[in-house]
This record gives sequence, structure tokens and C-alpha cells, in this order.
Amino acid sequence: MAKQLQAIRGMNDILPEQTPVWSWLEDNVRHILSRYGYREIRVPIVEYTNLFARGIGEHTDIVEKEMYTFSDRNDDSLTLRPEATACCVRAGLQHGLFHNQTHRLWTAGPMFRYERPQKGRYRQFHQVSVETFGMSGPDIDAELILMTWALWKKLGLDKHVTLQLNSLGQPESRKKYREALVAYLEQHKDALDADSQKRMYTNPLRVLDSKSESTQKVLENAPLLHEYLDDESRDHFERICAILDKAGVAYEVNQRLVRGLDYYNRTVFEWVTSALGAQGTVCAGGRYDGLIEQLGGKPNVACGFAMGMERLVLLLEACDLVPESVRTHVDVALVTFGDVEAYSMVLAERIREQCPEIRLLVNCGGGSFKGQMKRADRSGAEIALIIGEDEMRDDKVTVKSLRSDEPQVTCSFEELVAEDGRVGRLIK
Ligand code: ATP
Ligand code: MG
Repeated sequence: MAKQLQAIRGMNDILPEQTPVWSWLEDNVRHILSRYGYREIRVPIVEYTNLFARGIGEHTDIVEKEMYTFSDRNDDSLTLRPEATACCVRAGLQHGLFHNQTHRLWTAGPMFRYERPQKGRYRQFHQVSVETFGMSGPDIDAELILMTWALWKKLGLDKHVTLQLNSLGQPESRKKYREALVAYLEQHKDALDADSQKRMYTNPLRVLDSKSESTQKVLENAPLLHEYLDDESRDHFERICAILDKAGVAYEVNQRLVRGLDYYNRTVFEWVTSALGAQGTVCAGGRYDGLIEQLGGKPNVACGFAMGMERLVLLLEACDLVPESVRTHVDVALVTFGDVEAYSMVLAERIREQCPEIRLLVNCGGGSFKGQMKRADRSGAEIALIIGEDEMRDDKVTVKSLRSDEPQVTCSFEELVAEDGRVGRLIK
């Protein structure tokens, strides 16, 4: 027998059992975004490779080793997007969105990174990515954080995530810090892990992020980023903190928080949970004022974040926060016996027309009455409608409760869909 076909490692099917949770999460995200006035933008999942090389930074993990890059038939180098920020900036530049305008945008969909697959880390994963353009004040940075906080509250996640916050300053002040950091790291080079010894020269701030214990020990006495902050960045940071304080959003200032992408300046933040093991960051972002210019546009400011949807789904499940009603997909199941095919199909249509909110599943393909009832029960439906030859002759329906011991009744279509009828009552 031929070998079973398999999906690519780290690329997951999301099965019908799981999709309701995804849809529920996505609906909540979309609802919050619309309440803050954010608009959707959709961008391709494949771009020219140089967009990411230039946008994300040559010496980042993503560009150095995680991209899915290939040549197309025209020998152009293309890449499956590893993130969406660079794509949104490219789209904004191409369509002139940045001329004297502000934008609050979001986009959602799959991202691709060649990483070692493990829980919470996949090669195809999904992000909701939120990008704002043209607003330089700390108010928009704070709005992004308040908006995510509102989402966590709506989902019941507010007790399960904490906010880490930092400022990276402006490129000039960061450069001075970088020099001080490299000078310090050079003195302790032997105690650093191999990766950090390499990164120290290519992307020294990433050393702060190292998971190695010996490197972390060295970092205990390293120069602190905030000692090098320029006054304006310090003011910007303090004003964000003031808004969060006033709003009652708790945060931890973490001076070692740097992000894996080069384009950030000033604000960076992460929402982190301890419930998912090593893959604890569910949402991360910050300010990227230099990116538009870096990609060839006129200088313009920007700020945004991305949420990892797989990690949020895992967290919602782990914390048991998904309402049971989310998982049901049927309210009413219709089962038949005898020669009533046309009658029952048309009756189902009449019910759907009369009660557009009701989700009605018709048993197709026959089967024993017992088998049909079993399937009706498994569907999660509240009630079963039973149509036999007697019902057809009298133009009636028999209703059986599947979730309570309310007695079985036989009634007319009008009685069934009336406000207090057995189907009518299910309309929320
Ligand atoms: P990490 O430190 O976990 O590798 P990152 O800094 O690479 O994350 P970003 O590029 O900022 O992550 O992406 C934002 C969010 O997308 C992350 O916080 C995470 O929730 C999610 N994410 C990133 N990479 C993956 C992945 N390979 N699989 C699943 N989710 C991911
Ligand atoms: Mg990563």
C-alpha cells in the first residue's frame, strides 16, 4: 500500500472539533478591533525576499535561518511571509497610504517560519497583526496595550497573562548602549554561550534575551539600557506608564526585553503567560518608527503588535475558558422514518426560512431510527424533530427533547416555530 500522505512537519490541520474555538476567538478579536476603530487590510502571503531581508534585519533569527525562501519559475526569490508588518508597510507605500494620514489597521492569517516544532511553536502559525501609522505620541502605544487588555478581559484571560514593558530608546541612544554592552560582554566573553558570543557582534541586544544561565549571570552586572535612554524616549515611556497606571493595568518594566526583529525603537512590550511552558509570549509588539523609511518611504512613525493565535487557543483551553455553547454547531436535528423524504426536506427549508438563526441538521442518507437518534444526540442539538408517515399525513411534527426530560409532543408547524414553540424558544 502507498505510504500515508502527511502534512509538512510543523504545519497543522485545524480539525472541525477545534475550529469553533478558533472562530470564537477570532470573532472576539475582530469585535474589539472594530470597537477601537481599526480597519482590516489583507496582504499576500508571498512577497519578494528582499522585503523581509531589508525590513526585519539581516542579522535576526528570522532572516538568518527561519525563512521559507524559494525561486519561482521566473527565478525571482520569493518568501512565505514570516510576519505581516513588513507586508503592511509595503502595501502602504505602494498605495500611498502614508501621505499625511493616520491609520489603524489589522490583518490576520498564516505566517511561516522554519523553526523546531514544539508545543506553541510551529512552522505555519497564525497571527493577528495590528499596525498603526502616523501617530508619534505615547497615547497610541498605550491604546494598543489597553486594547489587548480589553480583549483579555473579554476572553477571561486577564488573570492568566502579565505585561512586560520596556523602551529601547532611539537608534542613536541605542547605539551608545550597544557599544557599552559590547565592551562589557567582551570582558566576559568566555562565560557566554556560543550563540551569544556570535551575536555579541552581529546583534548584541539579542544577547539580553539569551536563555543560557551562564549568559544571564554575566548580564546581572551589565550596563542597563535605561541609563542610556534619551530624554524624549524617557518622557515617552513615562507617559505610557502614567496612562497604564491610571487605567489600572499592571506591568513589569523589563530592561532586558528586546524583540527578535530589528525594526523596533522606543516602546516594546509582551504579554506573557506561565501556563504554556517555554512558549509563553502570546502577544508582542512595539514602536517601529524607522521601518517605513528603511523600506524606501518618507520617514513616518508606526506602532503595532502581533498575537499568536495558536498560543491563545492553547491558553484558552488550558485555562478552561471556552464556553460550552461555543462547541455546539447544531440546535435542531431532524430525523425520519418511512417514506417521507420530500416532505421532511421541504419542512426543514420552511423552518430555516421562518427561523434564520436556528441551526438545523437534517439526517441524510437514511439509516435506522435508533442510529439516526444517536447521531442527533451526538450533534449536540437541543431537540430532535421526528417525521414519520403519520406526521406527514397530519401535517405535524413530533418533538423530542435531547437535553431535558420535557415530554415529547406532536404539534403543527405554526406551533413549532411560534415564540413559545419548541423551535421558536431556541432563538436567542
Ligand atoms: P518567540 O520569542 O516565541 O520566538 P517571536 O519574538 O519570534 O516569538 P514575534 O515575531 O514577535 O515572535 O511574533 C509575535 C507572536 O507570534 C509571538 O509572541 C507568538 O505568540 C507568535 N509566534 C511567533 N512565532 C511562532 C511560532 N513559530 N509558532 C507559533 N506562534 C508563534
Ligand atoms: Mg521567534
